[in-house]
Amino acid sequence: MADISSFEDFALNRQLLNAVADAGYETPTAIQQQSIPLILAGHDVLGIAQTGTGKTAAYLLPILMKVKYAQGQHPRALILAPTRELAMQIDESITALARHTDLRHAVVYGGLGPKTQIERIQRGIDILVATPGRLLDIYRKGELVLKELKTLVLDEADKMMDMGFMPQIRRMLEIIPRKRQNLLFSATMPDRVIRLSEEFLEFPLRVEVAPQSSTAVMVNQVLYEVPNFKTKINLLSMLLQDEAVFQRVIVFTRTREIANNIFKFLARKVVSEESIRVIHANKGQNTRINAMEAFKEGNVRVLVATDVAARGIDVSLVSHVVNFDVPLIYEDYVHRIGRTGRANHTGEAVTFVTEAEAYHVEKIEKIIRMTIPRQPLPPELPVEKTTFTESQEMARTIDEQRRKDDPTFQGAFHEKKNPLKQAKPTGNGRKPPPGGARRPTGGKPDARKTTGHARSRKR
Ligand code: AMP
Repeated sequence: MADISSFEDFALNRQLLNAVADAGYETPTAIQQQSIPLILAGHDVLGIAQTGTGKTAAYLLPILMKVKYAQGQHPRALILAPTRELAMQIDESITALARHTDLRHAVVYGGLGPKTQIERIQRGIDILVATPGRLLDIYRKGELVLKELKTLVLDEADKMMDMGFMPQIRRMLEIIPRKRQNLLFSATMPDRVIRLSEEFLEFPLRVEVAPQSSTAVMVNQVLYEVPNFKTKINLLSMLLQDEAVFQRVIVFTRTREIANNIFKFLARKVVSEESIRVIHANKGQNTRINAMEAFKEGNVRVLVATDVAARGIDVSLVSHVVNFDVPLIYEDYVHRIGRTGRANHTGEAVTFVTEAEAYHVEKIEKIIRMTIPRQPLPPELPVEKTTFTESQEMARTIDEQRRKDDPTFQGAFHEKKNPLKQAKPTGNGRKPPPGGARRPTGGKPDARKTTGHARSRKR
């Protein structure tokens, strides 16, 4: 498969490309590179990809391209998802990616009365996202016309099978037009899903995001559980002070802001200005090339980078990769740590994880098929107290993650504004988080006040 480095390389229209840019997607992920051209060409596709690979946009973009603009009354694309939470997320992705179009979409799921959902459908829609049970309920009431359907997606098919939705899906297949494009996405391929795909897909083309465990095994990996953002800064500063060990280091961050802030702080306080550079997509091409050259030649010891900027860097002799945060595109973890240990040199990948990021580590560990060894924090590390805002954000993030995996989870975090997310005043057995996570767009790191809470570290 050709390496498609830009969304501009796909036959997508300007409205969609602008929405992709607004979403901050710079490079298509592997599953997007493989699936988008096939779906656009009208093939049935069997996609094997986990959450976190960018699979949602991989099928939504070509669907949006095909459905194109508002037309008629009845849905032309239907996306089935096992849980309310996933259905809502898919619908949110449609809102984001279709923002420059006039496309109308709705999401229907159980757990609340169907009246509002039916009203929405009756106003006319182009794309419908649904959980199987609720979809059939509404269909049986005679409130949904499915004869215009051209594309059907089953997302997280393995989970749908696990949740016992097979009878509803069979029933669905009987009532929708035979001539249509089918897409099936699943994280795993147990027998039940293989059988479903045989029933459901016609001459499917298979795309798969291969778990690249081999790279991961080559590299010595460690993981530090760190309570909050400021302590991460302290830990990074402490590690970098050991010049004999941390000889040539790439520090990865999820966002440009964090990359910039870390760079500024380290250059001011920790390493000499000449020995550190930052690269991200906002930096000009020349600046990036210069920084990379200087790093390769060994004139620069520390390179702070975002994932996109660092793609394609082939630097042997990198002694350490530091993941300042856990990547949300899980393949990026493999890409990141693949920078070290190249060409038979041993390298080490160090990952900093807050409690709110542990969820993503679990998923990454599934992909690389190993548990990343935990390392205790150095005893002399100044451990900062987690601010109130950070712990609030962290609690909210953890609740969202729980809900993703268990749609019946009510949440322990009280959020007043959004009634859908409102917590019940019951205990869920979840202990309050000891630390705080910071949103990727967080403020300035400032580790100047390394006040002593040194022994308050968790676990
Ligand atoms: P998914 O696997 O579809 O659940 O997507 C995981 C996350 O990656 C979501 O937060 C998406 O918004 C984000 N995402 C999807 N595609 C890209 C991309 N090409 N670049 C950066 N982020 C992306």
